[in-house]
Amino acid sequence: MLELEILGSNATAPTREGPASCYLLRTATGVVLVDAGPGALAAYCARHELADLRGIVVTHMHADHSLDLMAWAYRWTFPEKLAPIPLFFPEGEAERLAAFDAVFGIPTLPTMNRPIEQSFQGVPMPRDGVTEHEVDGLRFRAFAAHHSVPSAALRFEAPDGRTVAFSSDTGYCAPVADAAREADLFVCESTYLEADEHALHGHGHLTARMAGELATEAGARHLVLTHFADPADHDQGRAHAAETFTGPVSVAVPGTTFVP
Ligand SMILES: [Zn+2]
Repeated sequence: MLELEILGSNATAPTREGPASCYLLRTATGVVLVDAGPGALAAYCARHELADLRGIVVTHMHADHSLDLMAWAYRWTFPEKLAPIPLFFPEGEAERLAAFDAVFGIPTLPTMNRPIEQSFQGVPMPRDGVTEHEVDGLRFRAFAAHHSVPSAALRFEAPDGRTVAFSSDTGYCAPVADAAREADLFVCESTYLEADEHALHGHGHLTARMAGELATEAGARHLVLTHFADPADHDQGRAHAAETFTGPVSVAVPGTTFVP
């Protein structure tokens, strides 16, 4: 069994609709959190048990994808210490994670000196598209997305061959198409309807039309648009993506579940 549940999909900050970026992959035996944007822990606890969480995978260390990591780490160490789980992050970002601990560690509480380090088994992910990781029976690989910090597009494969891919935040680039190759579900950012050269190819984001082009290039089966800068753009974004991708196009609305 493999299901994708949208916990949060906003770019930048939580809204009344839900948290910033955070997704769940549900298997027969547990759940895996992909990204921990602001509001992720509260949304998770409203619907799931902490004991079911098997691991966290962070695509990149921008706050709208990772700020709640410290909230999870505090919860993992206090009031009782929970068993450590793996935390996968893009290779090269260990220092930034350590900086979280330097800022928020509590020297007078031995279990919370370095909350992230003490809560999670940190696993750097080379973004080479080759190195294979495993969590809760799902095999996955990270690919080099194009963004202002090391950003990992992800490809998860269930034992029965079903695949879910995430673009992470990215500009248009070949490794993300590789991550989404013939994926059953491709969760792709579509930050803008229109944007300038710097936003798309410098900083690194996609328009909804470009998300459709990527899905077409990859041969993905079902495109799920996410990370809209403005949630009011959902309908128009879906229409734009349908101009460049002929398969089904959905929007990642919090509370929605997709079966690959
Ligand atoms: Zn970002």
